Amino acid sequence: MTPRLATPRHGSSVLLVGVLAALLIVIGMTAIFYARFFHLERQEKLDENDAIASSVAAFIEAQEQGYVNLLAAYAGRFRFREAIKHQDRSEAAVHLRQLHDSFPGLGRPFLTDPAGVLWAAYPEVPELYGRPLAHREWYKGVSRDWNPYLSDVFASARDGNPVVVLALPVRDVNGHLIGIMGAAQPLEEIRRWLLPIQVPTGDLYVVDRKGQLVFHRVRTGPAHLADYAQVPVVQRLLAGEEGVAETENPVDQQVRLSAYRRMPTLGWGLVVQREKSAALTHIRTLITISAACGLILIVALAWLGMTAVRSRRQVTEALAALEERSRALQEARDEADRANRAKSEFLSRMSHELRTPLNSAMGFAQLLQTSPLSAEDQESVEHILKGGSHLLGLINEVLDLARIETGRLALSPEPVQLVDAVTAAVSLVQPLATQRRITIAMEADGIGSRHVMADRQRLQQILLNLLANAVKYNHDGGEVHLTYDASQPGRLRVLVRDTGPGIPSANMPRLFIPFDRLGAEHRGIEGTGLGLALSRRLAEAMDGRLEVTSTVGVGSTFWVELPETESLLDSHEAVAIVPDGAAENRRDGVLLYIEDNLSNVRLLERILARRPGVKLLTAMQASLGLELAQQHLPDLILLDLNLPDLPGAEVLARLRAHPTTRHIPVAVLSADATPGQIRRMLDGGAMAYVTKPLEVAKLLALVDEVLVPSSQPSV
Ligand code: ADP
Repeated sequence: MTPRLATPRHGSSVLLVGVLAALLIVIGMTAIFYARFFHLERQEKLDENDAIASSVAAFIEAQEQGYVNLLAAYAGRFRFREAIKHQDRSEAAVHLRQLHDSFPGLGRPFLTDPAGVLWAAYPEVPELYGRPLAHREWYKGVSRDWNPYLSDVFASARDGNPVVVLALPVRDVNGHLIGIMGAAQPLEEIRRWLLPIQVPTGDLYVVDRKGQLVFHRVRTGPAHLADYAQVPVVQRLLAGEEGVAETENPVDQQVRLSAYRRMPTLGWGLVVQREKSAALTHIRTLITISAACGLILIVALAWLGMTAVRSRRQVTEALAALEERSRALQEARDEADRANRAKSEFLSRMSHELRTPLNSAMGFAQLLQTSPLSAEDQESVEHILKGGSHLLGLINEVLDLARIETGRLALSPEPVQLVDAVTAAVSLVQPLATQRRITIAMEADGIGSRHVMADRQRLQQILLNLLANAVKYNHDGGEVHLTYDASQPGRLRVLVRDTGPGIPSANMPRLFIPFDRLGAEHRGIEGTGLGLALSRRLAEAMDGRLEVTSTVGVGSTFWVELPETESLLDSHEAVAIVPDGAAENRRDGVLLYIEDNLSNVRLLERILARRPGVKLLTAMQASLGLELAQQHLPDLILLDLNLPDLPGAEVLARLRAHPTTRHIPVAVLSADATPGQIRRMLDGGAMAYVTKPLEVAKLLALVDEVLVPSSQPSV
């Protein structure tokens, strides 16, 4: 594994750790938030309990104080007081009945003398009159400092029901104690006050000084009287404390949020409490839901993270595999290219090697042909020559194919008049066609003098091949039609249609494969199987196309298409018709043109026809050019860069290096218009760089600039 591929994996685990750390922080903060929320909620419930406890305690105190005031008001009545003073039971009974009837909740009102002996009550209890009650807790309470007193709960002597006694000392106008008025209040009355008070998710209860239940919603009757003395909050109340607390009930182990308040005027205590778990249920639910959501989120994130890491790893591995595969592919391609180059190299070399002995074999065979030979030997020589020329054609085509494939085929594109090229090719195949009574028809309508950009010789080669095939693969007496198509803008097409057997569509893909003759070799038709392959590659090398359509039994149409261009000769012609008689346009001198392309040489000849004083020397090989330069010392050398034996740059260097040619100005003519090439040649000593296709006016200006004006006026 390369370090470059390891980095993202490392990066992803850092990312994962980062995400997990962030998650933990979020979870921690959420937990703190909920803990705080929980605490506040608990405090709020405690405060709420306390508020309820305070108000209920105040309410009970106010109610009992009301009763105290009521008893005091009755005891203040003159007649009643007199009756109490003299223990006039019948008079006292009137007032007691009134009191009882008007305020039934007060229970049974009664009267004792200051020593606590009962003497009157309503409803009457004659059986108890005269009974001393000084041992009762209420008597002890009221007699302690002779103030109104509310007793603890006790079981009534009459029916055993729990009651409390409200006792009030009664004094005469002089303030002397004359008796005690009391009311045995059933707990039912207090129950009636407190039952409607509801504490959400909790309840309240009231205890007396001993911790006995005064009020409890469900625990009633004598059985529960002493129950609560052991309850922790009640114990606090008994110790004189009040406040709020979270306490655990020793009986049911339930934790409760409690508020406990004392009622100082009555000596009782009140507790408001709620089950902690019930009070905080909704917040617990909230926390549970949040925790569940959080958990789901964490699991989802973890899953996503792991999926991301896994797919990242998979992508990385896939990328590595892909890289590996594309490297292998590249290597295979390089290997194939190398093999292809080697093959082409081999073919090229072999062809060169074959051509040399073949040339001499053909040369000697031709010599033999001119010697006096027997008819039989003459025929043998003809066979040798025929076989040799076939072999030579084959070798040339193989060489061309190899050159195209290695990108070393030198082309000299120039504007070529299409009809001219076609006519020339037709004239070459005409004898063969005539031999077989095949007519070649040409329709050049609308094409006229239009030009294509092509290497003239190579275009000729293509056309010749198509025409030769149209004749070769035709039947005797058949037809060949030549037409043109200029419907594609910027392109010209020549179509060669024959009336031969046609080519089955199954064979079409094999048509352009070198050496595949589609069985023609068995039909005794001469050929190499290279012509179409080479023609198509040549057309493509000239930015053109070569295609075919064919119908079996009707014939085939091969067409070649090339880019259209403006005619150079037309502009040359335009220059030529410009009046050219000015004395300063007359030049004398010798011009050497080193160029291997015959068409270019012809073109320059025509251009220089406008400068009759200029003598033109031409060399189609570099070595000959160098020789001519030294022998004739021309005034100007025009140098093509694409020469068969030496690169143009080398020719320039040799001209510059030799003392006799050093001073001769050299202008480079080349189709290569790249700035780097132009700079190299100018740096190498060229005086000018003229790009092809040649501009006649420019070239003449260059000639005029270098050559001296003629002393002879033109005629
Ligand atoms: P060659 O003619 O030397 O065999 P080519 O490359 O020119 O090679 O053609 C390849 C094959 O295509 C020929 O052998 C022939 O079978 C077929 N062919 C070419 N031109 C025609 C045509 N005009 N009509 C029918 N078949 C043709």
